[in-house]
Amino acid sequence: MKKGSKQIIKTAFLARNTERELDTIYKMVKIYCKSNHKTSKVLCSNCQDLFDYAKDRTVNCIFGDDKPECSLCEVHCYKKEKREEIRQIMRFSGPRMIYNHPILAIVHVSRKFTRKFEEKYLKKT
Ligand code: SF4
Ligand SMILES: [Zn+2]
Repeated sequence: MKKGSKQIIKTAFLARNTERELDTIYKMVKIYCKSNHKTSKVLCSNCQDLFDYAKDRTVNCIFGDDKPECSLCEVHCYKKEKREEIRQIMRFSGPRMIYNHPILAIVHVSRKFTRKFEEKYLKKT
């Protein structure tokens, strides 16, 4: 396969990963908002602001094509209070994802393991 074709496939794959990561974040914020702020179809304004913030960070990530899951990132570019808010949401919604969105939850966890494995065993050479 030509180098250019590989790059196109890699870019498409990463774009899909970013899209899926944002979808997962949105669903987790929604679970949290529904239970804690008694919303139904749309997010409350605070949760919507937080999701918009996370989306902006993700889309403009400094790692570009090599972006890890934000939860595995060592830089963590979020402001301190936003980071704490999103952590609270992950703690609450993480276990509930397996019932509400099992496939996304499994993909999310498997990506984390893959990344950790790569970092530990493949990138040290
Ligand atoms: S937390 Fe890390 S991976 Fe997530 S957007 Fe910020 S720099 Fe990128
Ligand atoms: Zn809310």
